Amino acid sequence: MSTPPMSTARIIDGKAIAADVRSQVATGVAAFKAKHGQAPGLAVVLVGEDPASQVYVRNKGKQTNEVGMRSIEHKLADTTSQADLLALVETLNQDPDVDGILVQLPLPSHIDEKSVIEAITPAKDVDGFHPINVGRLSSGEDALVPCTPSGSIILLKSVQPDLTGANAVIVGRSNIVGKPMAQLLLRENCTVTIAHSRTKDLPGVVRAADIVIAAVGRPEMIRGDWIKPGALVIDVGINRVPRTDPGSEPGKTKLVGDVAFAEAADVAGAITPVPGGVGPMTIACLLQNTLQAANGSRD
Ligand code: NDP
Repeated sequence: MSTPPMSTARIIDGKAIAADVRSQVATGVAAFKAKHGQAPGLAVVLVGEDPASQVYVRNKGKQTNEVGMRSIEHKLADTTSQADLLALVETLNQDPDVDGILVQLPLPSHIDEKSVIEAITPAKDVDGFHPINVGRLSSGEDALVPCTPSGSIILLKSVQPDLTGANAVIVGRSNIVGKPMAQLLLRENCTVTIAHSRTKDLPGVVRAADIVIAAVGRPEMIRGDWIKPGALVIDVGINRVPRTDPGSEPGKTKLVGDVAFAEAADVAGAITPVPGGVGPMTIACLLQNTLQAANGSRD
């Protein structure tokens, strides 16, 4: 009788690593407070009632308070005009009690996201999306770096502290994940390939990778037989799909990544689960950025 294949990959525990990052931030916040008499403040602006965004904003506020920072929430109606939103951003830019500003995306369709991102003063741009921070990152200067890629690097280095020389393939070229991820991997001396929807022979490209970063938004697209044995796999994707396991109630859903986890875990050296991998790192790195912004502006 044949035995089922055993999962060989180390499962990277994003929840535990994010808790470590938050605890380091809490220590930094306490030192900041002792020096300046006030904790760093993070302003989060939510426009409209998108349910996923409401959950994100609630979690951000809760974790901001837990590390000892001040959370300042602005909840605006989905009919808010672009002019009113830009006026609020300008008020926050000028407010000395606000160290970081985050405008929750996506914004309602009548608002131009690019104008809003560019209105945030770069020193308070804790999402790292402002063109000044994007430029600083790509030219190797100090920058506020987008949170999901930063978190992904921390997860990779928890398994392999020196990534020098690794062949890294990122699937996805968004401004939020794929492109900044490439810059951070270059900074770690990886040889970097960015794949996307026009890439030829994607399975072949991924098979050459020592490090795979999946940031596509397509459930379980990256299969186990695309993964080089021993590769490190970071699954950024968050996809809600119907449950199909026996006995599950109709209409129930679950979260899966962009990687077929069970297949890939049989081949990879280490892999992040979804949920519980990259997801928890994003807010932890946002808090890290807020502390960095506060230290930068008040020293
Ligand atoms: P985008 O939709 O902005 O980008 C998706 C990228 O995937 C694009 O570059 C696109 O290529 C590429 N792509 C789409 N289809 C294919 C395909 N068939 N083959 C190869 N490449 C393809 O997504 P994001 O970068 O914003 O997010 C990616 C995923 O990460 C999503 O699931 C999102 O929910 C998740 N996410 C998770 C976060 C977290 O905290 N863990 C934070 C941010 C995102 P092209 O450019 O050619 O169209």
